Formats: sequence, C-alpha cells, structure tokens
Amino acid sequence: MTDPHCIFCKIVSKEIEASIIYEDDTCLAFMDITPVTKGHALVVPKQHYANLSECDDEVLRGVISVVRKISPAVKNAMDAEGILLQTLEGSAAGQEVFHLHFHIIPRTTGDGLILFPKKAMQERDALNDLAESIKAELK
Ligand SMILES: [Zn+2]
Repeated sequence: MTDPHCIFCKIVSKEIEASIIYEDDTCLAFMDITPVTKGHALVVPKQHYANLSECDDEVLRGVISVVRKISPAVKNAMDAEGILLQTLEGSAAGQEVFHLHFHIIPRTTGDGLILFPKKAMQERDALNDLAESIKAELK
C-alpha cells in the first residue's frame, strides 16, 4: 500500500534520496531534511498510513520498536542530553507529510526549542469535566 504522491513512500521505494539510518521489513529510519535540532531523525512504516490513528496495530508495534532502538543511538551520536519523540496528526497539529512518522529530536539544555510554553494551572473541576468528555469518547 503506497501513495504515488507521497514523499515518504518515494523515500521508502528509493525513488527519492534520503540519509538512511536503519531499515527492516516494516520500517525505515532516516535523517529529517529540515532538522529542528542537529540529528533530528524520522521513523516511518514502509506502508502508507496517513497518521497514527490509521496505522495497523502490528505495524505500529514494529515502528515503535524501531523508534526505541534508534532513539538512544541518535542521542549518543549527537552527544545530546535527552530525546523528544513526537508524532503529529492533522494540519492543525503541524503535520505536513501525511504518512505516519515519528520525529526523534535530540535535545540539549538551552537548544532554544520551545514546545510547551508555561500556562496557568487548570482548576480540578474543569480538568475532571474534560476527562469525562474524553472518557465518553472511549465508549
Ligand atoms: Zn506514504
């Protein structure tokens, strides 16, 4: 299952060049061409799934296993202090390529990347209401 217009499918099929870190039957890991920090890597399933929600469970297990394998290698090779793992779902979340991918982003103190600006603490009642509305969606 591939999408002929998808840039990650073209990387998987080697139609487009990438700096490949790791490959197995299920996944490919390669360097992000527009890294947010040095060493920013991506792990994708070889099959085309638009996002995490659409991904087959077994494929996802393979992908997350590779994420876990690659992350410490990225961290060590970049001499980083931590790793940020991220997947985006939907344009509003910042997803640009609609083929599931996990970002492996090495982090160091003071690298300037701001993900979660400090916000005011929410009241417990408001949080409980939100939790209830999400729980209702699980049923
Ligand atoms: Zn694709």
